This record gives sequence, C-alpha cells and structure tokens, in this order.
Amino acid sequence: MRKPIIAGNWKMHKTTSEALDFIKKFNQLMGETDVEVILCVPFTQLWAAKEAVNGTKIKIGAQNMHYEDKGAFTGEISPFMLKEIQVDYCIVGHSERRQYFAETDESVNKKLHAAFNHHIAPILCVGETLEEREAHKTEDVVRKQVTLDLKDLNEEQISRLVIAYEPIWAIGTGKTATPEQANETIALIRRIVKELYNDEVSEELRIQYGGSVKPDNASKIMNQEDIDGALVGGASLKPEDFIEIVNF
Ligand code: PGA
Repeated sequence: MRKPIIAGNWKMHKTTSEALDFIKKFNQLMGETDVEVILCVPFTQLWAAKEAVNGTKIKIGAQNMHYEDKGAFTGEISPFMLKEIQVDYCIVGHSERRQYFAETDESVNKKLHAAFNHHIAPILCVGETLEEREAHKTEDVVRKQVTLDLKDLNEEQISRLVIAYEPIWAIGTGKTATPEQANETIALIRRIVKELYNDEVSEELRIQYGGSVKPDNASKIMNQEDIDGALVGGASLKPEDFIEIVNF
C-alpha cells in the first residue's frame, strides 16, 4: 500500500511571520489523517517552519538546492545546509526551475544524487509543455526526463523518491489535466520505472499529480488508481483550501 502524499509548494510566497500564521491555523484544522503532509517553503522560512511543526504531523521541504556541498556559487543553497535544518523533502527539477533558471536533466540528476547522499527525500518533477502534448510527444518527453534524471540511482534510493507529474500547461493556469489524463501519464511513468528497475520498485514508488489541484477537483484526482498524491501550488497558500485537499 502506498501512503498518500500531499505537498504544498508555496513558490516565492509568504514572509516568515505569514508562514508561522499559516502553520498554526493549518495545524488546528488538521485532524487525524493517513496522508503524509508536506509544506515546501522558501529558504528563509525553513528554520522557523521546521521548529513550528515540531510535535505536529506536518513535514517541511525545500523547493530547490544546489548539488555541491559548498563552494563559490553565490546565492545558492547546498544540501549540506538543508541537512542541518533537517528538512524532510526537497523539490527537484520543478518546471519553473527548468524554464526560468536553466535547470537541465543533467543538473537534476546531480541534485537527486546529492539529496540522497544527505538523506533528503527528493520530489522530482517531470512533465510536458502544451506544444509537446498537442504533438503527441508526452510519452517521449516524460520517458526522456525520467531516464536521464534517474541515471545511476540505485533501487534503495528510488524507494525514497517521490515523483510529481506536472504537465506544464496545467500549472497555475486553472486548466487541470482530466483525472484520466493524469492517471494515464502517471501509469506510464510507473511503467518506465519498472523497465529501468523492476516491478517491486515501481509498485512502491509514490507518484503525485500537480497542476491546478484545487479543493473541488482533489478527490477525483486522488481516487485514480495510479495517483498517490498531489503537489499543490496556488491552493496550498490558504489553510482552509489546503486542508480540504488534504482531507480529499
Ligand atoms: P498550481 O502549481 O497548483 O498553482 O498549478 C503546482 C506546482 O507548480 O507545483
């Protein structure tokens, strides 16, 4: 049985005091749940957020990291630094990083290796553009990303990995993939991982859907057979919205 996993991706939103307000309110709303709940917050909030969730069921993730432990990389944050804060997760290869910050499959692969070396569980994002989907290239694009991004990772590492399938055309646009479309591509990702590793690894791998997940579409998405969770942007910014998604 794969445990459902729902992560909020706050992107470049909220100050630290706003983050602490959110965590307080959200924790009051959160009852017993079988869902693993993560908040991926901006770097400046990590330390305070990690302290604020102590004793709650909420986990904290970063949104990006460098692959080197230290060095002359002005403005970057290393996995070694994240490890000290004991972040549980880190998003790697989000499409906004690929699109605006020249992230490549090669750097994504290096980041995945670095995350595992520091016992930070990565949430690897993959997904196609609208143009690629319309040209029926979704399978090729996703296959290439998954194959290159997971290069030289072993089975034990894959058992700690989470993948988020995020069609770029559905992110922040209000256009969601239909639950069936999302499930189809997620099942494809599972097959690719099976080809690269084996049945057991692919069956245990948790794969989220991301792209305009909202309180009113969460349950349909989460009820699909191959979908194990959601990576939620906009609708994770308000405790009242995010709790409805967590309680899908
Ligand atoms: P969205 O973002 O829910 O606002 O579409 C999802 C994401 O980019 O992770």
